[in-house]
Amino acid sequence: MNISIIAKEIEKEIIAIRKTIHRFPELAYEEYKTAETIKNELLKLGIEIIVNENYTGVIGILKGEQEGKTLALRADMDALPIHEETELEYKSQNSGIMHACGHDIHVAVLLGVAKILSKLKSEIKGTVKFIFQPAEERKKGIPSGAETLILNNVLEEPKVDAIAGLHCWPELPYGTIGIKRGGMMASSDTLNIKIKGKGGHAAHPHKCIDPITICGYIITEVQSIVSREIAPFDSVVISFGKISGGHAPNVIPNEVELQGTMRTLNERTRNLIHQKIRDRVTMISRSYGGDAEIEIIKGSPSLTCDDNMINILENVINNQLTETEIVNLKNPSMGAEDFACYLQHVPGLFFRLGTANEDENSKIPLHNSKIIFDERAIYHGMCAMSTFALEYLEVNR
Ligand SMILES: [Zn+2]
Ligand SMILES: [Zn+2]
Repeated sequence: MNISIIAKEIEKEIIAIRKTIHRFPELAYEEYKTAETIKNELLKLGIEIIVNENYTGVIGILKGEQEGKTLALRADMDALPIHEETELEYKSQNSGIMHACGHDIHVAVLLGVAKILSKLKSEIKGTVKFIFQPAEERKKGIPSGAETLILNNVLEEPKVDAIAGLHCWPELPYGTIGIKRGGMMASSDTLNIKIKGKGGHAAHPHKCIDPITICGYIITEVQSIVSREIAPFDSVVISFGKISGGHAPNVIPNEVELQGTMRTLNERTRNLIHQKIRDRVTMISRSYGGDAEIEIIKGSPSLTCDDNMINILENVINNQLTETEIVNLKNPSMGAEDFACYLQHVPGLFFRLGTANEDENSKIPLHNSKIIFDERAIYHGMCAMSTFALEYLEVNR
């Protein structure tokens, strides 16, 4: 049976499910209703379900009628603490919460893929593991959904050989799929620096150690790590988003706190930047008689797809899906994605699902209160993911 035909048949029903999920968005680790919807849909298909009281996600297992590898397909489920400002008839009913990153579409696409593949069990050469993952939008200080699921053995029983996922992309029109070889998305680490000086009267700076002056040197000097010590073709971002210190114009404070984010496209550069920042900040602080406490909180790692999996997706789209077009993305994104955590363990494929149309509101960036995703993308997402899954299991038998 042809995947495109089945996808067309179920498209309306899947779009309706997406609208319900959009109407009732839930924050990270609170996706109870969303999980309920997913469970009910998977049960209707006779798919084996694994739930775990440690998280709100849902895992589904579909065994093909032939032996083979296990491919995991992942959709994230959570929404954002944003007040929706669209006029959609299915706009958010949960005040202050919105599916502004398109995870409602990801869930809908994966439910559609589950429907399609459960009709094609005889053609599946192996097992498909559906991972409906909570909490991609990391709350500060707690593990992301991918980290939680990995800790709870989502990549075991059955052991996952590879994983694939997608993300809505308002920079591409609906009907297109974006791929990127090499570094695709950045690692994201938080930097907390406490600069310790010695406070006193601002009229007598020689009797103090001024942490504000030290902080100024650190802010400018750290950028020279990026410009002078990292190769120009190796992308790195260091941005400081918060400075706090001092109470009065004529008082030198004891301490200044500086917080920022660091992004890199590979793990080698990531480790190098961590060390260089520690060295530079300590050296500058001490050269003025002060000191510094440096805390680096590691977020998601950088994301690089498996080239063979990209080739499979490219081939199936070019040869089997005439309505969908593949686009090679020119640049990586310095944004981060916790899908990268799975890729620390298994090879994976992450691709962009074009969701833009002629309406300007469909082209504004993710996480915006006015963004409207074109739901026609769902059909293309279902076709691409299902066709890829069958082909991956076929060629990797
Ligand atoms: Zn997001
Ligand atoms: Zn997202």
